[in-house]
Amino acid sequence: MRELRYVGDPVLRTPAEPVTEFDRELRRLVDEMFAIMYQADGVGLAGPQIGVGLRLFVYDISKRKGHVINPELTIDDPEEVVEEEGCLSVPGKETGTPLYAPTPRAAGVTVRGVDKLGRPVTVKARGMLARCFQHEFDHLEGKLYVDRLSKDERRKILLQTP
Ligand SMILES: [Zn+2]
Repeated sequence: MRELRYVGDPVLRTPAEPVTEFDRELRRLVDEMFAIMYQADGVGLAGPQIGVGLRLFVYDISKRKGHVINPELTIDDPEEVVEEEGCLSVPGKETGTPLYAPTPRAAGVTVRGVDKLGRPVTVKARGMLARCFQHEFDHLEGKLYVDRLSKDERRKILLQTP
């Protein structure tokens, strides 16, 4: 199995490339991403987090589970909501578990993409699922949730990482 990548690894700062091959390897990658996410007790995982520079993510949060390949994100409700957010790629060096910080996100989004068989997927989301989609989409752009924090908050978090 591939391994989780942590903040400081350049792959997390590199925009991911679109998926073009919808083959057996892709289906295995999606299965592996779910396995790694569950093993780490995560609720979402994007390709770059396991060193795969491709535009896809998996999620299982608020009783909604799925995967999206080549996602596009539309903000439906731009109202800013601030809630605790963490990331498997931003762990505390003492605990090895994600560090959390109040992070602003839009209240409602729609994700459109395809599944591992190339079939269209559209998911409308609010609340934690909307937060998760924005978080995972950021990973595909080479961004991390800490980028959304104030300078001081960001420094506070990054000082606690390995
Ligand atoms: Zn993350």
